[in-house]
Amino acid sequence: MIICKFGGTSVQDAEAMERVAGIVGQRVAAKPVVVASAMGKTTNGLLEAARLAADGEREKALGVLDELKTRHLSEARRLGLDTGCPGLFTTIDEHFAELSNIVGGLATLGALTPRSMDATAAHGERLSTLILHACLNSRGIPAELMDSRRFIITDDSFTRASPLFDLTDAAVRQHIMPVLRAGKVPVVQGFIGSNRRGVTTTIGRGGSDYSASIVGAALDAYDIQIWTDVDGIMTADPRLVPEARRVRVISFDEAAELAYFGARVLHPATILPAVRKKIPVHVLNSYRPDQEGTLITDEAPPSENTVKSIACKTGITIVNITSSRMLMAHGFLRAIFEIFDRFQVPVDVVSTSEVSVSLTVDDITHLWDIVTELKKIAEVNVEGGKAIVCCVGDNLRGTPGVLHLLMEAVKDINILMVSQGASAINVTFVIDEDQTARCVRNLHDVFFQKLDPRIFD
Ligand code: ADP
Ligand code: ASP
Ligand code: MG
Repeated sequence: MIICKFGGTSVQDAEAMERVAGIVGQRVAAKPVVVASAMGKTTNGLLEAARLAADGEREKALGVLDELKTRHLSEARRLGLDTGCPGLFTTIDEHFAELSNIVGGLATLGALTPRSMDATAAHGERLSTLILHACLNSRGIPAELMDSRRFIITDDSFTRASPLFDLTDAAVRQHIMPVLRAGKVPVVQGFIGSNRRGVTTTIGRGGSDYSASIVGAALDAYDIQIWTDVDGIMTADPRLVPEARRVRVISFDEAAELAYFGARVLHPATILPAVRKKIPVHVLNSYRPDQEGTLITDEAPPSENTVKSIACKTGITIVNITSSRMLMAHGFLRAIFEIFDRFQVPVDVVSTSEVSVSLTVDDITHLWDIVTELKKIAEVNVEGGKAIVCCVGDNLRGTPGVLHLLMEAVKDINILMVSQGASAINVTFVIDEDQTARCVRNLHDVFFQKLDPRIFD
C-alpha cells in the first residue's frame, strides 16, 4: 500500500481535486491511502477569523467565514457534487454553523487559546476531505472518509502536538486496515489529531506531510508520495531562484536538514517515521503527475556536486549572551540551554567565543521570558530581522576548500554567524533578512553551474 498526500494547492479548487482523482484513480491497484490538507489558504483564513473574533471584531470574523463557506460550496458545486452526494452540502453548512458558534464564543471571551485555535483550524482539513471523498466516489473510486482524530493520538501541546506513537500506530492500523481490506480508498485529514481525551489537536503548520509519514510508517507502506505544486525538491526554493533545478534523488539525512532549515516543500518531521521503517518518500508535482519527482531514500548515490540544495528561513532572531561575571565559567552553557529548554524553545545555530554565546531562535513567543531569565546570569542583547541560509549536501563532509568557495560566493554579504561541522552535511550562515534572496542566488550561481546528471534534472 502507498500513501498519497495532497497539499493545499493540490486540492485548492475543483480543477485541482479533479487532478487528484486522476492521480488516485491511476494508483488504485497500489492500495492508496489519501491524506489531504485544507483547500488552498483555508487554514490561514480560519485562524484569521479566530483572531479577529478574539480581538472583538466579530462581524469581520464572520465575514471571513462567509467567504470560506462560499468557496467550499462553489468548488463542490463545480465538481458536480450537488447531485448524487446526499447530505454533502448540509454537512458543509453544519461545519460553518459550528465555526460561527466558535467565533461567537471567542468574541464573547475576548481571548484565543491554542486549544480553540486547533478546534477552529481542524475544520479546514475536515472540509477538504469531505469534498475530496465525495469527488472520488463520484468519479468511480470507492473511497471512505476517515476521522484522523480517532487514530492520530497526540500529547496536549495544542497547535504543535506530538503524536504518541504507541497509541497512534495501533489505532491507525485498527481504523485503516479494514477499509483497505474492503477495497476502498481511505481519505484521511492531514495536520489534525486528538489528545487522549479526544480533544482536537494539530501537529504544527505544514504538518500534513508529517501526518502522511506517520500513517505510512504505521501501515508499513512501501512508498510515501508527497504531492505538491513543484516538480520535487529543487536546488533552491524556485520562488527565490527561478532557474532552480530538480534534485532526482537525495538522502533522508540531507532532506531532513533542508526541511529543518526552511525548505517548506517538506515539513521537518516528515522524514523521521519514514526513516524508522526505511520507506522511500517521493515528492511529486500534482500539476504535472507524469514527472518523475524527487526520491528521498536511505542512501543517495554519490554526486559530483558538493551541494545538493540550499534552504533558507527568514524571521530569525539572534540572542547574544555575554558572561557578566566569569570567562565562560564551568556550567555557563548548561545554564543558558537549560533556560531555553525550560520554555521548550529550540535553538537552531550556535556560536561561541571566550566570553559570549550567540544563538538563533525562530519562535519568539517566549523570548522575553527567556531574556529575563538570561539577564540573571549574563548580559543579553537581541537582534531580530535575521535569516538562516543553509547549504546541504553529503559531499560537504570532508570536501577540502569548500568553505573558501562558500565564502567567496557570499563575499559581499555581511555574515553574522557561520556554523559548519555540526552535522557534517550542512554549512549554515546567519545574515540580515533583506539579503536572503541575494545570498541564496549567489550561492546557487556558484554551486550549480555544472550539474551531475545522475542527481539533477
Ligand atoms: P503544500 O501545500 O503542497 O504542502 P507547500 O507550500 O507547503 O506545499 O510547499 C511547497 C513550496 O515549497 C513550493 O511552492 C516552494 O515555493 C517551496 N520550497 C521551498 N524550498 C524548496 C525546495 N528546495 N524545493 C522545492 N520547493 C521548495
Ligand atoms: N493546512 C495546514 C497548514 O496550512 C497543514 C498543511 O497544509 O500541511 O498549515
Ligand atoms: Mg506543506
